[in-house]
Amino acid sequence: MSDTSGPTAAPVLRMESVRKTFGDSVVLRDVDLEVAPHTVTALIGASGSGKSTLLRCANLLEDIDDGAIWLDGEEITDPRADQDAVRRRIGVVFQSYNLFPHMTVLDNITLAPRRVHGVGRAEAEQQARELLDRLGLGAKAAEYPDRLSGGQQQRVAIVRALAVRPRLLLFDEITAALDPELVGEVLTVVRDLKDEGMTMVLATHEMGFARDVADQVCFLDGGVVLERGTAEEIFGSPQQERTRRFLRRIV
Ligand code: ADP
Ligand code: MG
Repeated sequence: MSDTSGPTAAPVLRMESVRKTFGDSVVLRDVDLEVAPHTVTALIGASGSGKSTLLRCANLLEDIDDGAIWLDGEEITDPRADQDAVRRRIGVVFQSYNLFPHMTVLDNITLAPRRVHGVGRAEAEQQARELLDRLGLGAKAAEYPDRLSGGQQQRVAIVRALAVRPRLLLFDEITAALDPELVGEVLTVVRDLKDEGMTMVLATHEMGFARDVADQVCFLDGGVVLERGTAEEIFGSPQQERTRRFLRRIV
């Protein structure tokens, strides 16, 4: 992908010709991606198409075999990059909430700011309470995760990711494990974050939501970004037969 000059803001995340293999299987092939500030990118595609692997590569949870990745213009796949510092600038939420069961909601959220970022307890707790209030979870600070619904736990996981003031949020099918009636409350949070200007990349099977919230949609097929465009382009007039077939099946 060539750099665009002019008024376009520098991308928060940029991937160029990223290749990822597991043994003999090529899981990502020549993946290019640019994520502009304050935008939402939706990764769609069948199970096994490489969405999670792409997100894991972006967060350096996986080493890539070829290509390069930049965060705010810094090449994070450079061997000299400080990987821990990079991960501190990226918030990640997975399908399963992964909250620490033996810690209260408040302690789950303040752990990383206090331990990793050196924020004092009082300040970390105040920030956490403000975020909890914003997400309608103010009354849950002292609860343990197993006392919360799945939707509430996932919202706490989002608060935890936000607590370190990340530059970029990566969401991997964050509603996939939820009962249908709980999906909406989590998607509402994502929409609110977009309105606040957060930059996000999300792998999702919620096509209606992707169409509604995404600025850019990438259709992955067998580890390749087969088609990309605005939500209107991908959902309204997909160019590739495989994209059309996928959308017919899933919508
Ligand atoms: P998606 O999230 O779109 O369902 P994934 O990124 O999880 O796709 O998987 C893409 C492909 O990579 C699949 O074929 C999967 O089996 C394979 N894969 C993912 N992780 C590993 C791993 N750790 N080891 C071997 N193969 C993997
Ligand atoms: Mg996945």
